[in-house]
Amino acid sequence: MDTKGDTPGKAPTGSDTGKTDSTAAGMSPYVSLVSSLRSAWLTGKTRAAEHRVSQLEALGRFLDDKKQPILDAMASDMRKPPLEVELSEIILVRNEVNYALNNLSSWMKDEFVEKNLVTQLDTAFIHKEPYGVVLIIGPWNYPLNLILVPLIGAIAAGNCVIIKPSEISSSTEKLLAETLPNYLDKDCFAVVTGGPAETTQLLENKFDYIFFTGSPRVGKIVMAAAAKHLTPLTLELGGKNPCYVADDSDMQNVANRLVWGRCFNAGQTCIAPDYVLCSVETQEKLLPALRHAITQFFGPEPRESPDFARIISDKQFQRILALLGSGRVAIGGQTDDRERYIAPTVLADVQPSEPAMQEEIFGPVLPIVTVPNVDEAIAFINSQERPLAVYVFASDSKLVRQVLERTSSGGFGANDPMMQTTLISLPFGGIGNSGLGSYHGKFNFDTFSHHRACLLRSMGLEPMNSLRYPPYSERKMGLVTSAFEIKRKGTCTLL
Ligand code: NAD
Repeated sequence: MDTKGDTPGKAPTGSDTGKTDSTAAGMSPYVSLVSSLRSAWLTGKTRAAEHRVSQLEALGRFLDDKKQPILDAMASDMRKPPLEVELSEIILVRNEVNYALNNLSSWMKDEFVEKNLVTQLDTAFIHKEPYGVVLIIGPWNYPLNLILVPLIGAIAAGNCVIIKPSEISSSTEKLLAETLPNYLDKDCFAVVTGGPAETTQLLENKFDYIFFTGSPRVGKIVMAAAAKHLTPLTLELGGKNPCYVADDSDMQNVANRLVWGRCFNAGQTCIAPDYVLCSVETQEKLLPALRHAITQFFGPEPRESPDFARIISDKQFQRILALLGSGRVAIGGQTDDRERYIAPTVLADVQPSEPAMQEEIFGPVLPIVTVPNVDEAIAFINSQERPLAVYVFASDSKLVRQVLERTSSGGFGANDPMMQTTLISLPFGGIGNSGLGSYHGKFNFDTFSHHRACLLRSMGLEPMNSLRYPPYSERKMGLVTSAFEIKRKGTCTLL
């Protein structure tokens, strides 16, 4: 991996952004980097199963060797507790590496498909083909996971890759730029560092696939840049994830799970429960349970807890602060700008028109909006942009099913937030404003593979082929129709 595009194989220089001095000549500064990766791609080396395996294994070694530096970088970026780093940044990534290695040979196999009458003697299959040179852009909140998991999919699928970690989580960005290149094939994989300016210049280049994780605002910029080259892309975006709590729920269990989901990584999680919808009566029962859970998890003074992270930046801190005036502060509300601390906070009786309901919270603040019943909750959810996840807490499975069937979101969780994403067997992604496409496990491999439709025909049986050649006739029409037609199964011919 190399951050200098003009000299494939050269060791990275750490603080290097990946730019070359072509800017002076009026060229995009990443032109030579992208073209060196394209040259490597054209050699075909990343297509070989052995190359994919060796790079995935190297990524696994990176995770093992750099465990402590990873923990240190996350502590420095947002004081992320070690268990949270271990679970969300190391174990989940390691699982993806192992799962890809365990399944790669079967994923890579051609998928044979059904044939019609005309092609019975031929071979028809889907060939999983790498796209080519891929760009992966990541956010700051899970700065390793959200770069490395897509990288695993891209490597498994046989691509060359440029990764662009977030500049905001600067310690993790530095760690990735300085150490990951020592593990991977420098001809085929590169790290580019920097923020919006660098990403804008990078996006001027033609990629074969772009995988972006971040805000809907920047997602639109990335999609517009991709459109210029007709580059296919995945957008993993954010939004407000509603959580309906039914009156019959076990309130302490609900509270434990909600506080965990809302306070993990100090709430800076795209799939965290963003706000609660419940009846006034349920709000009254839920508040003491939430207070109890917060004290149980973080003690009487959460600021002293080693298990509670900090807000990533002053900008994010000020943004969240401005949301605290919504509704009434029922729990928490303490803040300290010197260490970017915001206490686990619950806002009760929040109105849909207030600031906390106008944007993704992305912090340890849980607004509660009261609604008379589940129908009103569903109507409210459907009046908003489609979120990454919809959550429901209810002991009545019919009510769970009702919320599932009558709403739309990237994923869905009943009686627990976020846990759906720990299953590698489920696709992870958004819909509408929360994103486009999905990944994780096999979906990760498929996302970075073009599914090439292949038909290998025999040169024989020309009389049969002649049925579709001119000159056309009524007889040919009948034969062609029956040869190509798919008949509807099980339809009653008597009616
Ligand atoms: P962001 O959109 O500000 O930044 C993401 C990336 O885009 C960064 O690498 C950044 O350098 C780059 N970028 C920023 N501005 C740019 C511009 N003008 N032009 C080109 N590139 C630009 O997002 P963020 O603040 O890092 O992350 C938070 C957002 O990401 C939230 O909305 C959250 O919900 C979302 N998110 C989504 C997922 C998911 O999997 N769906 C996961 C984590 C975070």
